[in-house]
Amino acid sequence: MSVVGTGSFFGSPEEERDKLLQSLMDQKKKVSKPEGIPLITLNDGHSIPQLGFGVFKVDPAEAERIVSEALEVGYRHIDTAAIYGNEEGVGRAIAKSGIPREELFITTKLWNDRHLDVEAAFEESLAKLGLEYVDLYLLHWPAPANDNYAAAWKAMEKLGDRARSIGVCNFLPEHLEKLLAAADVVPTINQIELHPALQQREAVEASQAAGIAIESWGPLGQGKYDLSAEAPIAAAAEHHGKTPAQVVIRWHLQNGTIVFPKTVTASRMAENLDVFDFLLSNEEMDAITALERNARGGAHPNDLN
Ligand code: NAD
Repeated sequence: MSVVGTGSFFGSPEEERDKLLQSLMDQKKKVSKPEGIPLITLNDGHSIPQLGFGVFKVDPAEAERIVSEALEVGYRHIDTAAIYGNEEGVGRAIAKSGIPREELFITTKLWNDRHLDVEAAFEESLAKLGLEYVDLYLLHWPAPANDNYAAAWKAMEKLGDRARSIGVCNFLPEHLEKLLAAADVVPTINQIELHPALQQREAVEASQAAGIAIESWGPLGQGKYDLSAEAPIAAAAEHHGKTPAQVVIRWHLQNGTIVFPKTVTASRMAENLDVFDFLLSNEEMDAITALERNARGGAHPNDLN
């Protein structure tokens, strides 16, 4: 499997870009197989597939079928959470798939009302998923009004090998600073809302300075704005013969962030995975980056407690 760092492709000389494009084309030939998806190495030495499948708002009654389809299409990284209510369906799809456990990367998350009850909450998630371990366990929101996130983190540090990697979501620099002051283990991941109209540069910089990789949630803006109406996205899509969603996923990948767009439509599952046969130019990357307008679609991390 190819391994990429968290750097971007910016600034490569032309020859290097040709080589990169060739290697992306080679990956494309393998994209129906999971080994086509690049791996990111986390600060604890574990690897995570850079492109995965998210299941926020996937109906629990539909989760087994939808995750089965996603695994069939070639996804091997699934992002769920206790609060989504669909861990059981995700677990059934995993069990039925017959895919060896070590080929999968499964994430779930601790909900805000369990910050003082971490071990029991974690056991419940494992039981619902029907798994012996998860690859990544995330503290879902800092919920700063309750001020228990540092205590929750200390308990997460003690979960041992059944949570192979641990990390956080929705942490602003002030939350990270407080957590790191109390922590023995640096989070591997900060999963934050991130898409062209909201790039959270301060949270990204504070995370990366501490060696924490960024996962982008809502990578397509959750459908809250029309990607095809954004001129640089539409232009790049036309130029490369790709869809606006594919261009935005490519923008995330070239920036080195980890993404798991959600869809319940099989054709879009395949479309969102088919992003390894083209390369956005520096100019296209910069033009999409210039779409930043602080357009937060989800909750502000200080407001969800
Ligand atoms: P997203 O940006 O992935 O948007 C999903 C929506 O985009 C879909 O409902 C669909 O309408 C549209 N879409 C998907 N593929 C498309 C395509 N090819 N063409 C056109 N439209 C397409 O939003 P999300 O689901 O909120 O985020 C992804 C994942 O991030 C979630 O499923 C979840 O796993 C995670 N997440 C985490 C948090 C957190 O607080 N940690 C919050 C929200 C989401």
